[in-house]
Amino acid sequence: HADVAMYRAKELGNDNVQFYASEMNASIDEKLGLLEGLRAALDSCQDDDAGACQFELLYQPKVDLRSGRLFGVEALIRWHHPEQGLVSPDRFIGLAEESGLIVPIGEWVLRTACAQNVAWRAAGLPPISMSVNVSARQFEDKRLVERIADALGASGLPPQDLEVEVTESLIMRDLGRSVDKMRELEAMGVSLSIDDFGTGYSSLSALKSFPITRLKIDKSFVADLASCADDQAIALAVISLGHKLDLRVIAEGVETEQQRDFLRANDCDEMQGYLFSRPLPAQALARLLADGHGVVA
Ligand code: C2E
Ligand code: MG
Ligand code: MG
Ligand code: MG
Repeated sequence: HADVAMYRAKELGNDNVQFYASEMNASIDEKLGLLEGLRAALDSCQDDDAGACQFELLYQPKVDLRSGRLFGVEALIRWHHPEQGLVSPDRFIGLAEESGLIVPIGEWVLRTACAQNVAWRAAGLPPISMSVNVSARQFEDKRLVERIADALGASGLPPQDLEVEVTESLIMRDLGRSVDKMRELEAMGVSLSIDDFGTGYSSLSALKSFPITRLKIDKSFVADLASCADDQAIALAVISLGHKLDLRVIAEGVETEQQRDFLRANDCDEMQGYLFSRPLPAQALARLLADGHGVVA
């Protein structure tokens, strides 16, 4: 890659060839290092010694806007890198996708999330639903449905209490195949939601054929909801579209009371965001549930 960069730079008559090449090398080195680290992290989570596992799932509450009830959580992966400390998913999910490591990582996520949900119930906490993000490569994996069935079987979690979050762009990569796979999941009893809705591209006629239960309004439309008329218009359109298609609509990234009030006043069903809670470790989520947040007052 560095050679190609140098060649291109020369072709353009660029004097900074040396700079280009070394910068390119640095980013390739960084990528390779991260990739090696990801493999090691995955290894560290293979045995039963949960303390050694470098991955952790945090759980962010989803709250019903009318009752205030915490009805579900979204599992969000964190990587505790032995030297670099906490590495955010934005830095490694893309690399995991490119390398295919997302498939075994995703399997760990599924199994851990399902098992955790059952553990909370076993501790006497009110049952909630668990959402897991599935990215393109995972979704296209031939064994996805089998992997989900295995995670449900191993944990004993009812399929009705598992939701898979996918994006529009993922679905549109191969619409026919995606809809088939979504139907398989639906037949198993697993729910589907469209994540980051509005940021990708999906035709409205395609949307009609998706066996989904929920649209998630992307947080980029929520951020300036209190002051930006355009974002308000988009949020209203998604809420109304979702309801006309018989879907529930959840807003992500809700940070302020003004955003929440606008959403509630305009009939949005649910919210997720720092206003109610950041993504939490399993123990902290259990404390929230124990404090009665999972039960309608
Ligand atoms: P996402 O699925 O759209 O998740 C929402 C992101 O918004 C999360 O970032 C969450 O921590 C953040 N967030 C929640 N509430 C707020 C808020 O009020 N304000 C702001 N500014 N942000 C908020 P996170 O955890 O860094 O995850 C980023 C993305 O990485 C996720 O976006 C998802 O696409 C991906 N991801 C995370 N965990 C997994 C996983 O286990 N598997 C896969 N395949 N992807 C994952
Ligand atoms: Mg998500
Ligand atoms: Mg999202
Ligand atoms: Mg997102």
